[in-house]
Amino acid sequence: MSGIHHVTAISGKAVRNFDFYTRVLGLRFVKKTVNFDDPGTYHLYYGDRVGHPGTVLTFFPWEHAAAGRVGVGQTQQTAFRIPASAIGYWTHRFIDKGVAHDALEKRFGDPVLSFADPDGMKVALVGVAVAESEPAWTAGEIPSEHAIRGFQGVTLMVGDGARTAAILTDVLGFKAVGQEGSLVRFQASEAIGGVVDIREAKGFLAGRQGRGSVHHVAFRAADDASQAAMARKLVSDHGMHPTQQLNRQYFRSVYFREPGGILFEIATDDPGFAVDEPVDTLGRDLKLPPFLESRRKELEAVLPELHAAASAS
Ligand code: ZN
Repeated sequence: MSGIHHVTAISGKAVRNFDFYTRVLGLRFVKKTVNFDDPGTYHLYYGDRVGHPGTVLTFFPWEHAAAGRVGVGQTQQTAFRIPASAIGYWTHRFIDKGVAHDALEKRFGDPVLSFADPDGMKVALVGVAVAESEPAWTAGEIPSEHAIRGFQGVTLMVGDGARTAAILTDVLGFKAVGQEGSLVRFQASEAIGGVVDIREAKGFLAGRQGRGSVHHVAFRAADDASQAAMARKLVSDHGMHPTQQLNRQYFRSVYFREPGGILFEIATDDPGFAVDEPVDTLGRDLKLPPFLESRRKELEAVLPELHAAASAS
């Protein structure tokens, strides 16, 4: 079992981010919590009905963060998968909603509709024929046959692709499956969240992390033992320095900066988002880890209100 677990990015205003991902893209809001390392800031999680690994995009909304710039040492694009037949629907929807998007292109044979979120984050919808039979979360106005199925994957922009590639294939369970121009594609065992494309861009401008940037990409580990084995391999075979395991309430994580400069995380599949509230009401209430529960009143007073239009219809 291998693939992307979640992607975490930096946004501006929380309310605008919430509206875009729940209403325009139709993702489910699966967790309202805070940044455990900066609890005066939200940590907002969007995904499928239960927030399965491979579907979850999360944000730290830092309203006053300076705009980021995509470049070397960063995730260039984060892509969701939709049924190939839904590309036309989404193109019309983006025109309708005023979402800035590029002309349709093909990547490894699949149609790709690239667009930017309200903070300028580079996102795409990739049309995949088999996605038609994959489960879809629907709420609001997006018909289930067109809904997002989870991640397709990410594109990483690095100066030297070989060392990043070695970590993907040797530690994270990916296989090199093809090349197209400057993109090399790696595929995990899971279809959803299964693609990492490396764009080798020697000599390009370095990226600058900020609003609209991906903060880190998390990869899946089945359990603590396989996560520990991966961490050991990072140290012994790749000279990496992963952190100790941190309890992130919904998964347990180790972090390391891969050789291309991008922050990677390895997160366990368990326990998942239903650990502190029922699946039916995911995202309704502010959830805090036990060590922050005593500060609930103070935190609720500083966090902006989100209008919970994202519950099931
Ligand atoms: Zn993470």
